[in-house]
Amino acid sequence: MKVLVAVKRVIDYNVKIRVKPDHSDVDLTNVKMAMNPFCEIAVEEAVRLKEKGVASEVVAVTVGPKAAQEQLRTAMALGADRAIHVQTDDKVESLAVAKLLKGVIDEEQPGLVILGKQAIDTDNNQTGQMLAALAGLPQGTFASEVDVQGEKVAVTREIDGGLQSVELSLPAIVTTDLRLNEPRYAKLPDIMKAKKKPLDVKTPEDYGVATASKVSLVKVEAPAERKGGVKVGSVDELVDKLKNEAKVL
Ligand code: AMP
Repeated sequence: MKVLVAVKRVIDYNVKIRVKPDHSDVDLTNVKMAMNPFCEIAVEEAVRLKEKGVASEVVAVTVGPKAAQEQLRTAMALGADRAIHVQTDDKVESLAVAKLLKGVIDEEQPGLVILGKQAIDTDNNQTGQMLAALAGLPQGTFASEVDVQGEKVAVTREIDGGLQSVELSLPAIVTTDLRLNEPRYAKLPDIMKAKKKPLDVKTPEDYGVATASKVSLVKVEAPAERKGGVKVGSVDELVDKLKNEAKVL
């Protein structure tokens, strides 16, 4: 079974986000970029399926600028066999990404497609669901456990207040939640080997998909600065402050 994994290049989660002075967008100048953390979990799950002998091949795919090949090389250093780069400098929205991934599914015919539940830059949480609808495939979103058994995959989903177990017939779409696994770190020899793995470059036109944005970004604002806290000497002082300063009692 072939497993297709979608990975997105985003701002590294450790970076403190800066907003451009004119509030037109987030400032990406000299900012460290990385693979979206939920996509790292998706790659890890696919590689584990290969190590278990369930998957025969792991293919990583990204939609983005030339620099996004860095994340494909990371995916290959972590164990993906090859990669597909759909190259565009447009800011591609979830629906267009889903349409492009549908094109890749049509070409590659994977048995399982794994995506992150959400990209930490735009927090859309849409692509996997849109892809399932476009491809007419069953979906198991927010997965905290994935168990492939023959022609089916059992997915434990993290839902409000508990877990839900679903069984999907393959091919299927799965999106990863945080507790699915702990991604490994790439080892230096694997980083070197990944440089030689095949990476196909495509364009959105190859799939007949328009990537121009239909949403315009109006304004970006940083969250309000948090005020410093104070230590109180006693419960009475705390109650007094809550009553008379914060006026919440
Ligand atoms: P989103 O719906 O944008 O929150 O993203 C959810 C997941 O869809 C991500 O974790 C990726 O697996 C996939 N995805 C979103 N955008 C891209 C992209 N440009 N290239 C590849 N995969 C993507």
